[in-house]
Amino acid sequence: MRSKIVAGNWKMNKNLEETEDLLVELAAKLPDTKAEVMVAPTFVNLAAAVRNLEASRIEVIAQNMHFAESGAYTGEISADMLLNIGVDTCIIGHSERRAYFGETDEILAKKVRTALEKGIRVMFCFGEELEDRKSGNHFNVVENQLKNALFSLDKTDWSKIILAYEPVWAIGTGETASPEQAQEMHAFIRKVISDVYDSSVASNVSILYGGSVKPGNAEEIFSKPDVDGGLIGGASLVSDDFVAIIKAI
Ligand code: PGA
Repeated sequence: MRSKIVAGNWKMNKNLEETEDLLVELAAKLPDTKAEVMVAPTFVNLAAAVRNLEASRIEVIAQNMHFAESGAYTGEISADMLLNIGVDTCIIGHSERRAYFGETDEILAKKVRTALEKGIRVMFCFGEELEDRKSGNHFNVVENQLKNALFSLDKTDWSKIILAYEPVWAIGTGETASPEQAQEMHAFIRKVISDVYDSSVASNVSILYGGSVKPGNAEEIFSKPDVDGGLIGGASLVSDDFVAIIKAI
């Protein structure tokens, strides 16, 4: 059966001291839950975060990685570097990487491939923009994003994939997809995966929702049958808010 997951994407926030402070608070307040709880601090603080959470069940994950093994890629981080410090899950394809850093479906497909070859679990993000939804094209866009980056994978690779549906118009905007809109898209995603692979792949993959999830809306969104948790940005930077969201699952 698929796992429930709540992950905090800290983006480019929190220096070393702030990172350690927030982790101490989270570890102390972590509610009793069967859900997997993850945090993604910035690269420079990843190793410290891993050390900080040694005795906790909160998992430290990365926000990004490069597809190349090693070499002349100034400013980049490899899969082996992540594994070496004890990080074995990585967010790939976040809409901010796509929009501001030119990450195309083709680049993302390479990143996914490298991650899986190295044994890194992938949290793959995707989602339509506002114009896509307004024009009724959102299902097509999402299907294509999945197809281009993931549908050449083998069936067995899917045990290492977590999906995070994040409509771009809902990220950091305070605008959330309604629980019904999230459920509708998640059910669609499962159907597409079932058609391409089979129903066991479709029913075993965790599909998270992301985009302005807050303590006040988390419970309703998480109550939908095809929503297996959330990828949380802004609200994961405040321990009480993140803990309230974890409690909602
Ligand atoms: P948000 O970000 O919760 O601040 O909307 C979500 C994300 O970008 O993963």
